[in-house]
Amino acid sequence: MFDYLIVGAGFAGAVMAERLANGSGKKVLICDRRPHIAGNAYDHYNDDGILVHKYGPHIFHTNAKDVFDYLSRFTEWREYEHRVLASVDGMLVPIPINLDTINRLYGLNLDSMSIQEFFDSIREPRENIRTSEDVVISSVGRELYEKFFRGYTRKQWGLDPSKLDASVTARVPTRTNRDDRYFTDTYQAMPRHGYTRMFEKMLDNPNIKVLLNCDYREIESEIPYREMVYTGPVDAYFDYRYGELPYRSLEFRHETLDGEVFQPAPVVNFPNEQPYTRVNEFKYLTGQTHAKTSVVYEYPQAEGDPYYPIPMPENAALYAKYKALADAAEGVHFIGRLATYKYYNMDQVVAQALTTYAKIVGENRKTAAILAAKPGYSYANGNGSGATRGLN
Ligand code: FAD
Ligand code: UDP
Repeated sequence: MFDYLIVGAGFAGAVMAERLANGSGKKVLICDRRPHIAGNAYDHYNDDGILVHKYGPHIFHTNAKDVFDYLSRFTEWREYEHRVLASVDGMLVPIPINLDTINRLYGLNLDSMSIQEFFDSIREPRENIRTSEDVVISSVGRELYEKFFRGYTRKQWGLDPSKLDASVTARVPTRTNRDDRYFTDTYQAMPRHGYTRMFEKMLDNPNIKVLLNCDYREIESEIPYREMVYTGPVDAYFDYRYGELPYRSLEFRHETLDGEVFQPAPVVNFPNEQPYTRVNEFKYLTGQTHAKTSVVYEYPQAEGDPYYPIPMPENAALYAKYKALADAAEGVHFIGRLATYKYYNMDQVVAQALTTYAKIVGENRKTAAILAAKPGYSYANGNGSGATRGLN
């Protein structure tokens, strides 16, 4: 008898498996319908021996020290700060838009003071910032919105930015300085030996059994278990009772090219001219040296594996109905990007899983996460049923 059947071996499922097994001595079966662990963060060495991310570039960044400390138990890190260029008006310029972007695009010589005046002269203030269009137009005006955001967003989501929640384009700030990093989080790093290696370490416990190429529906009535952790799409779990929740998909076209370097930045975004949104060159992320280089082109599409929940009011309303079913489902915990229909980054999914685990064992999240970062601690068999007992 398993204590837990965990559906999905991505971040949400793997953190839960690790905590339940190492933290509470539970017996866990984790299954995934894909032929590998690590979910969308899966990486592997391709035929040419280059480490690539099968489902697009994954860059770890967080402000949550407890999340970083927790994952540090399973990997060493390679310091890495992500940078992106956008192809606009025949130039490659930094995105997020910063001082250099504006100076190069318009042949100006602004400084940090005068650029704010420049933005103030072109921005169209809006009283309510409700949509992804409002966010950008109210900070940098219509022209820059059209150059950098409108085309990219229409391609990526199949929707005009005016239909999407503000939170989508708000992920990309505007800067008045020369900082050209994509993220400004305190912790920015890549797992030194890759994500899949990190997941292998998380799942390395005799109390965790991993079953791949397996949809949970094939085994749920055959294999006895007490509770379930579900990390797949929430609408699928309930057999689409209220209709399908929209998810956006991508086609990833991988290529390996002769020559050590292909492009001048880890990622180049193509807001306008191309059918793809961005091109990612993996060696920048991994630091690998190799005579060849591997890239992936991202082509957005409606059909295919669900990668992105689509943040807009209609979808939030439909998700609320599924959430009510999920909240009422006894003995099933719904976590992760697909099961809670949230446009979450990896660190947010880890935090959500740690919080759910903390609830299950009756701890608060910060305490549970701090304890989780200490390998010797266990809630199991009376070895620490309180906040401090068993800590070593
Ligand atoms: P997933 O990784 O999707 O795992 C869910 C698993 O459940 C899947 O492996 C699936 O096969 C399995 N499953 C579903 N249904 C079933 C079933 N019926 N039976 C068995 N198994 C099932 N985040 C960052 O922080 N930084 C980034 O740079 C970044 N880049 C990204 C780029 C792309 C292109 C995408 C799509 C996402 C990116 N993310 C990034 C987000 C990151 O991928 C997610 O936050 C994270 O992987 C979500 O983990 P999860 O466990 O919730 O979901
Ligand atoms: N975006 C854009 N132009 C860009 C970069 C981003 O319009 O050059 C918008 C687009 O809608 C995108 C969103 O901002 O989906 C969030 O960008 P991010 O890079 O965070 O997307 P992700 O890495 O999650 O695909």
